[in-house]
Amino acid sequence: MEVALSQLWRYGSAVLLVAIASFLILLASDSTIAANPWLIGFAPVILSARYGGLGPGLLATVLMGVACAYSSPQSLTSSGAIAPNDLVEWSVFALEGILISALMRLHTVPSQHQRGPRSKLELRTILDNAPVGLYVVGSSNHEFMNQHLCAWLGLTSEQILGNGWIDSIHPEDREWVIRASTESLTAGQPFEAEYRILDQSGTLYWILDRAVPVQDEAGQVQFFQGSCVDITARKQAEERLQSVAQQLQERTAELSASRAHMQALLDYTPAIIYIIDVDGYMRFANAEWYRIFGPLFGNPIEGQNLRDFLPPEAAAVFFQENEEIFASAKVMTFENDMTLPDGVHTFLRIKFPLQDASGEVYAFCGVSLDITERKQGEEALRQSEERFRSLSACSPLGIFLTDTQGNCTYTNPSWQAIAGLTFEAALGEGWAQAIHPEDRERVAAYWFYCASSGQAYSDEFRFQRRETVCWVHSRSSPLFADNGQLMGHVGTVEDITERKQASEQLQALTRQLQAQNEQLTEVSRLKSEFLTNMSHELRTPLTSILGFSSVLLQKNFGALNPKQEQYLSLIHSSGDHLLALINDLLDLAKIEAGKLELDFEELNLAALCQAALEMVEVRALSKQQQLSQELPLACEFILGDRQRILQVLLNYLSNAIKFTPAGGTITLKTQVVTDVELQNFNVLEVEEEAALQGASTSMFVGLSVSDTGIGIPVEDQHLLFQTFQQVDGATDRRHGGTGLGLALTKRLVELHGGKVSFTSTCGVGSTFSAWFPLPESNVEPI
Ligand code: ADP
Repeated sequence: MEVALSQLWRYGSAVLLVAIASFLILLASDSTIAANPWLIGFAPVILSARYGGLGPGLLATVLMGVACAYSSPQSLTSSGAIAPNDLVEWSVFALEGILISALMRLHTVPSQHQRGPRSKLELRTILDNAPVGLYVVGSSNHEFMNQHLCAWLGLTSEQILGNGWIDSIHPEDREWVIRASTESLTAGQPFEAEYRILDQSGTLYWILDRAVPVQDEAGQVQFFQGSCVDITARKQAEERLQSVAQQLQERTAELSASRAHMQALLDYTPAIIYIIDVDGYMRFANAEWYRIFGPLFGNPIEGQNLRDFLPPEAAAVFFQENEEIFASAKVMTFENDMTLPDGVHTFLRIKFPLQDASGEVYAFCGVSLDITERKQGEEALRQSEERFRSLSACSPLGIFLTDTQGNCTYTNPSWQAIAGLTFEAALGEGWAQAIHPEDRERVAAYWFYCASSGQAYSDEFRFQRRETVCWVHSRSSPLFADNGQLMGHVGTVEDITERKQASEQLQALTRQLQAQNEQLTEVSRLKSEFLTNMSHELRTPLTSILGFSSVLLQKNFGALNPKQEQYLSLIHSSGDHLLALINDLLDLAKIEAGKLELDFEELNLAALCQAALEMVEVRALSKQQQLSQELPLACEFILGDRQRILQVLLNYLSNAIKFTPAGGTITLKTQVVTDVELQNFNVLEVEEEAALQGASTSMFVGLSVSDTGIGIPVEDQHLLFQTFQQVDGATDRRHGGTGLGLALTKRLVELHGGKVSFTSTCGVGSTFSAWFPLPESNVEPI
């Protein structure tokens, strides 16, 4: 009875202690104790084992284990079972409870219950066979390593107690494990750590090492007892879990990046993208869809049926296409026109089916491109090509196209007719066969050089047709695309056979003319030479004729009868005329031979004019003509050959007297004009060879002789200033003259660097002028 009460008391105390500890754990629900209830859980176990023995100790271990396991909700899985990690901790706690209970029994029970030797053996057997490593350290009396621990490390209990344990710790963990365990144990605190050990074969284990201090009644730490549990599997599982978690994280990041790319593509693509399910309901539409169709069909469109929006005809076509997609489960392409508010648009639609996991088509995805501009461009291109072909077909010019390398890709009918080749035969390098063999190599080399370097081409060569040869002029220009890339060449071929023949004839004619010119020049030279010689030969006897006739007329050698005097006068005047003619001829010949030299000097203009007037005064008087002069002092001096300028003035004055009826008026006038003003006069073109080299001035002094004579008909005026030209033969014969005067005058003036001009009105009168260049310093204000 006493024993039964004692048992009840001991077990009851154990239950009570567990209840108190559980209550405390519940109270400390937010503290670190709640996170690690095992620390409090050891208290009822130690007290029950210490004062109640093994049975109460084990009972307290079991009850406390259950209480700790269920004290934290996160320890339980959804099914109410204990989580794997906590199961390990619970196992460790249970084993430690067993160990503590057993050790307490060893410590207390022998003296009370006389069961020592047998119980010790039993306990030892239990501890040795426990599936965890158990140890007691810190007391030389009670140091202990169970068999499991020794077998695990491959060491004896003595080796472990020596340096065996420390040496077994993984080198990377050794330092901190020794430090942490020493600190805890020295302070009498429980020690708990997870670290790596290496057994004798080098196999690596992760262990959970827990040690608690055991104190005597006085509170002094007697020894430490601990346990080592193999947590390698858990650690590996954790590492795998961590790796899986990392992979999951990376995959999630990839997926979200990929999703962002996809969204950007859908948002910014110029294509319309949409998904429609088998019932015709929109599942998705991208930004471009909303940009174009949003204003027409509303927003959002997802969940709506397009049949409700599309016009009936468009809906019929659209859904017919959809049926085909669903039936065939293939990618299909369609091209349709659609009327939008801004006009008709052409869309290229690609539709492909979407299948679920079982392979059943549940929707299709449509991708539409607005190809209106492309279509318009194609149509414009087609029309442009059509126009080119029509133009090319009726062009009289040969037209050809080549690629970038110069190989022929097209010829028009005219080209084929000119070259004598068919369209097919001309393709590629075939066109070169039409070229005359003598030109072929040169033409092909130059053509391919220009073509491949993108240069314009122009060349003349011959085509050798079956029996005929024709000359052509071929030109081409490079064709460039908008981006500046060379696309080929377009060229023309013109049949220039006739032109070529005409040119050859012209060249032959020119050569002939040149030869004739040379002959004429030679003849002219000979003529001049002849005239020079002849004039000289003629003048000598003439001098005698004139001299002797003059002497006879003076009657120094006796009186003359009237007939003799008349004949002698005729001889003398004919001699005079002949001398004048010879002199003129001589002068002209000299000028043409380039041998007339001028004797330049500064001439007083007024004196010169006066001298000329005096020389013709008698003749004018004999015809009752009035001689007048207008000599404003525009300039005082000119530079020239006195005799030749006098000759010019005398010729003009003689002609004026000659062709002005009796009683008429002859006026000699001087004036200064600019070269611009001179253009207002009827100035004759200068004979090049007669022009004074280097003469250039902007001022001219003019010597003009005006008369009120018979004038010259307009149709005859072109004959003036020509050698041996007399305007009216009958009149001139009446007046005499040689027809050389004006021609000589023109040349003499031009030799001074001057020009001649005239105006004449039939029946009214004429004005003949000689314009001499005037150094500007000689000009005086009028
Ligand atoms: P000619 O010695 O015969 O006069 P010119 O060369 O001096 O030769 O003149 C050529 C011709 O120009 C003259 O024959 C005359 O018909 C015409 N002619 C020249 N001066 C005048 C003039 N002042 N009035 C009318 N006709 C003139």
